[in-house]
Amino acid sequence: MHTDLVAALDIGGTKIAGALVDGHGKILVRAQRPTPSQDDGDTVMRAVEEVLAELTASPSWSRASALGIGSAGPVDASAGTVSPVNVPGWRDYPLVERVRAAAGDLPVELIGDGVAITAAEHWQGAARGHANALCMVVSTGVGGGLVLNGQLHPGPTGNAGHIGHISVDLDGDACPCGSRGCVERIASGPNIARRAVEGGWRPGSDGDTSAAAVAAAARAGDPVAVASFERAAQALAAGIAATATLVEIDIAVIGGGVGKAGDVLFTPLRKALSDYATLSFVRRLTVTPAQMGTDAGLVGAAAAALARQANNATAAGV
Ligand SMILES: [Zn+2]
Repeated sequence: MHTDLVAALDIGGTKIAGALVDGHGKILVRAQRPTPSQDDGDTVMRAVEEVLAELTASPSWSRASALGIGSAGPVDASAGTVSPVNVPGWRDYPLVERVRAAAGDLPVELIGDGVAITAAEHWQGAARGHANALCMVVSTGVGGGLVLNGQLHPGPTGNAGHIGHISVDLDGDACPCGSRGCVERIASGPNIARRAVEGGWRPGSDGDTSAAAVAAAARAGDPVAVASFERAAQALAAGIAATATLVEIDIAVIGGGVGKAGDVLFTPLRKALSDYATLSFVRRLTVTPAQMGTDAGLVGAAAAALARQANNATAAGV
């Protein structure tokens, strides 16, 4: 049988997306359901099974040789379980086993969503051609993943590169993760907006207090909005500089809603990086916006499935 496709699942707190993806990252078939995130675990799983049922009903399904899952975390790839913060019905939920059963026993590869985005940017996007990269998603939370020596580095449990919960402010605000002064506590969209409001910034007549509204105010020169983005940029720069110093990445890619803020984020970020990334081997580090759009999670899950296949083939001497 000709197996030139992989199946992909992108599981988040809002939607469950599935696709059949070819070897060039092109999506041929797609399916989607809202995530019933506040329901019990089996109800959430039924939504996943509905997505899979649509994919398996496609005439192209027989060409799929493996399935990749990118899931909101934490995930435990070694156990095949997930415990997404925003899906309380899933705690140590045996997602891999359940998906494999619904997908006709295809080999299944599980990674965290930050790692999936990284796989997509490395395969098709801004980190393409870079052997050592950090990719980040800065939105409601801050996630990320690493490419090292030309390969995705998910780590033993699939969570490596989770830069949002590196502490960059030793005595900083308590973070929901249990630590203090995490990058996410300073640089996520809600925290950028919160800091601006606390500093006296007020929204326009539409009442919009999102980070995107703060970004618009910063572009218009509002000093409090500018300062809130500068502080976020500082936190991101400190986290990126620490990562570069540890593992010698040469590019940091920033996606997510906050990553779309443009110069109000990237100008202070590049300046702060020059303050924190000071040793000779990290000074050439560049920082750039992500290129992949809303399909990044699916494309990244597909990349992980393809990488698993390639590794299996190598191990089998094929
Ligand atoms: Zn934290």
